[in-house]
Amino acid sequence: MARIVMKFGGTSVADLDRIHNVARHVKREVDAGHEVAVVVSAMSGKTNELVGWVQNMPKVAGSNAPFYDAREYDAIVASGEQVTSGLLAIALQSMGINARSWQGWQIPIRTDNAHGAARILDIEGAEIIRRMGEGQVAVVAGFQGLGPDNRLATLGRGGSDTSAVAIAAAVKADRCDIYTDVDGVYTTDPRIEPKARRLKKIAFEEMLEMASLGAKVLQVRSVELAMVHKVRTFVRSSFEDPDAPGMGDLLNPPGTLICDEEEIVEQEVVTGIAYAKDEAQISLRRLADRPGVSAAIFGPLAEAHINVDMIVQNISEDGSKTDMTFTVPSGDVDKALRVLGDNKDKIGYDVIQSEAGLVKVSVIGIGMRSHAGVAASAFRALADKGINIKAITTSEIKISILIDGPYAELAVRTLHSAYGLDKS
Ligand code: ASP
Ligand code: MG
Repeated sequence: MARIVMKFGGTSVADLDRIHNVARHVKREVDAGHEVAVVVSAMSGKTNELVGWVQNMPKVAGSNAPFYDAREYDAIVASGEQVTSGLLAIALQSMGINARSWQGWQIPIRTDNAHGAARILDIEGAEIIRRMGEGQVAVVAGFQGLGPDNRLATLGRGGSDTSAVAIAAAVKADRCDIYTDVDGVYTTDPRIEPKARRLKKIAFEEMLEMASLGAKVLQVRSVELAMVHKVRTFVRSSFEDPDAPGMGDLLNPPGTLICDEEEIVEQEVVTGIAYAKDEAQISLRRLADRPGVSAAIFGPLAEAHINVDMIVQNISEDGSKTDMTFTVPSGDVDKALRVLGDNKDKIGYDVIQSEAGLVKVSVIGIGMRSHAGVAASAFRALADKGINIKAITTSEIKISILIDGPYAELAVRTLHSAYGLDKS
């Protein structure tokens, strides 16, 4: 017997037929004798609709801004998960399974006060564990918890992944299965490279990089949480026949296991190629090369909540002037230029240049720690295709390369084959 948390995303519960299908997946595990808790998202499209309603409320008199109240936003957008948790509980009951829905406040899942992007602080798992012991299946509404103000708080878009991992940690589950509309994590985006392969296993750290870079299978926070609590997390498809052979395999269900690197025996040097679109580059020319310039640049950007990513500073020729180049999301360029313009005197640069529409392509793999020449192969492969590199950053397990937007797909395919990822 094992204890399993099963999470179903929006497309998996998109209508009543699919909810019934999800119930069959749950029944399979219950019938096998496992203790099961389920976490659900809202029906696909529902949260967008709810967010849209909030945004289309009447405008504040004399302004263009809609009325906005973060607590009421949460009260509204959390409702989608309430519906699916109830429906799934009924579907399970109709199959003879003892099931009960739970809203975030009923458990409770306690969060901080950051309405709309709250963090989970604590989950009282005892009651769920007790009921699981009695054979009851808890169907928990994802995405929501209870703030310190005793009000509903939501966890940010995609947050029910985080609900599921947090619950798995709280009830000490053996496994957290994230059911979605793809059947696992791939070596790269299969829409760009059809030869992309599904990974059997990926280390937490690698998955964190993949998710941060736009592989949208999981919310980034859920991966962080899984890494901290070492929650073995499977990404798998809800669209496969719930009773197909192997679906109930305890140790090797179909899908990708996100796990501790120690569990990965045959470690490849490179695990995957990820990319992030809509990057922009900003360069400050002829800055004074003195202590405090970086702080003068990046302090005000941080205060304006602008996420700065790659930073490259030139070594000055005569020790007096230098150039600083960095990237921000394309959507933040105007704001960043304004902030830097306002601080021109304090920073002391000569000119400022910017370019939007760039793409960051990254090579990821924990095997890089112990192999030389990984970066050089990337540079050679891109050069052979005539792709110009605008900036490079590296970490222990990642090489990120900034290039012009139109070359994104070619670069992804080139790197994917340069590291042999298209061969099984
Ligand atoms: N329903 C929420 C959203 O669409 C949470 C989730 O599905 O993970 O963002
Ligand atoms: Mg999701």
